[in-house]
Amino acid sequence: MLTGGCHCGAIRYEVRAQPVHRTICHCEMCRGTTGAPCVAWFTVPVDAFHLSGSPTLYRSSAHGTRAFCPACGTQITFADDALPDEIDVSTCSLAQPAAAAPTSHIFTASQVPWMQLADGLPRFPRSRSEAEK
Ligand SMILES: [Zn+2]
Ligand SMILES: [Zn+2]
Repeated sequence: MLTGGCHCGAIRYEVRAQPVHRTICHCEMCRGTTGAPCVAWFTVPVDAFHLSGSPTLYRSSAHGTRAFCPACGTQITFADDALPDEIDVSTCSLAQPAAAAPTSHIFTASQVPWMQLADGLPRFPRSRSEAEK
């Protein structure tokens, strides 16, 4: 079981499933909602994600909702209306982020030009679903 939470500790969670879709997202919404150049995420069934605390919810697009700690700002989850059975969890909110190492990059079409990563992982210009076609 994986555990994690926000920086201040007000929000904690447990993950009782194997992380899938482990990826580094370069989209403008991940950037804009974190202030970071990219964000690593993994996906689990929503039933396997158990959160304690009271995150603030923010609609970052017509179909997506992000959950943050209202005290320290750590972004914990992304939920897509089109995929109600799963939830994305920010990899670096894990107590041990090494347990869910990314296996790809997505939305590289939006990547900031000054960041060049030589990790050898596959790169996809847009979404995960596009990557899986
Ligand atoms: Zn916090
Ligand atoms: Zn993104």
